[in-house]
Amino acid sequence: MNPFEQIQSHLTKAAATLNIPEAELAQLMQPQQRHEATLAVQTSKGAVTLPAYRVQFNDARGPFKGGIRFHSAADLHEVTALAAAMAVKCAVVNLPLGGAKGGVAFDPKQFTREDAVAIARAYATEFAPYLGVDKDIPAPDVATDAGLMAAMLDAYEAVVGHHEPGMITGKPIALGGSLGRATATAEGGAMVLSQYLARAGIAVASQRVAIQGFGNAGAVMAKLLHDAGYLIVAVSDSQGTLYAEGGLDPYQVEAVKQESGSVIAAADATQVALPADAIFTVPSDIIVPAALDNAITEATAATITATIIVELANNPVTPSADQILYSRGVTIIPDVLANAGGVTVSYFEWVQNRAQYYWTEREVAEKLERLMTSAFTDVANLAEAKHLSLREAAYYLGVERIVEAMRLRGRFSM
Ligand code: NAD
Repeated sequence: MNPFEQIQSHLTKAAATLNIPEAELAQLMQPQQRHEATLAVQTSKGAVTLPAYRVQFNDARGPFKGGIRFHSAADLHEVTALAAAMAVKCAVVNLPLGGAKGGVAFDPKQFTREDAVAIARAYATEFAPYLGVDKDIPAPDVATDAGLMAAMLDAYEAVVGHHEPGMITGKPIALGGSLGRATATAEGGAMVLSQYLARAGIAVASQRVAIQGFGNAGAVMAKLLHDAGYLIVAVSDSQGTLYAEGGLDPYQVEAVKQESGSVIAAADATQVALPADAIFTVPSDIIVPAALDNAITEATAATITATIIVELANNPVTPSADQILYSRGVTIIPDVLANAGGVTVSYFEWVQNRAQYYWTEREVAEKLERLMTSAFTDVANLAEAKHLSLREAAYYLGVERIVEAMRLRGRFSM
């Protein structure tokens, strides 16, 4: 199954539970627009041509919204799948936004920072006619960051001839970025996890956590959960897993990683270095995949001892693994809810840009907590009432809200 077929299977299941007619489902499953281009860019390696994509999946609830990734595996299937998931995610959190995604297919590790900036500018110039504060608002994703958003904003504004900071989010604070954006994904994930535990009557202090990926999302999550009283027993990156039965200090691990490049350099008498895959087999109660797509496969699912999985990464569990884990009674807090804190604070950034009036970090945190709590409560109540998994309930809610907006606009009769 390619990534788009995976999302289509979630949409189909939700539509069946909601009794959505087939013709409506067929329209919902297809992106409204797919834009493809070949970027011609002068780089340190000479002139290169790179395939680039912007898929605008659905804008019934508001302007398209979704990140841009720089990754060699980026293709139309992957970008379309991520665009569909963005539409559902924005609807689950009840943001007045639709879903989109973008990508440029190349390996950023083979290019310099100046090259990445030139590619970002070329992307924004090429797709400028389709972007805009009221049309489609990109953001960072894999291998793109605030600095590249600044470059895209500048290139876009050069095309349109006016300032328009709200056309892109995840910007540096000095150019209209929001306070709290950098930690928002993990904050949102930690909020829904603590709400899930409270609802299930499970005490935080007893919970051992293993986190795959120690980057933007994973490292912040490790520190937040450590500070909240969870026991972080393992963290991993592409080089390996660091495991400590009695718990490890993510601040110390972060300092070591910054100096040496990997979490496993922090190994000592009480913290052991294991292979990267061991993150799923070390004894733990909660696993947080915060690295890659399809990290938990059928084979991995059979060996997992944790009872809760919090999907900070997008698509970290394959559909067959999802079924195995569900039948084993493992609770999965799905990506469209667990990592929605990022797009929620992106939405706050867009609101602040439109008003040209900026909030304190505390205001951002309070508003994030309000929206994440309400999304979690909506999904958990629905799951309970209709005997659905949290993923099924989240897709049910997202699809219901998108279809309602499409019906109100009369799109199905067109
Ligand atoms: P990142 O590049 O900062 O971090 C990724 C981490 O994964 C790195 O530590 C890397 O070493 C590690 N990794 C790579 N291969 C691995 C392997 N085989 N085993 C273990 N670790 C491995 O990326 P990020 O921004 O933290 O994003 C991670 C995931 O979270 C992605 O799926 C992304 O789409 C999702 N996500 C991130 C945000 C955000 O705001 N950062 C928002 C929503 C979703």
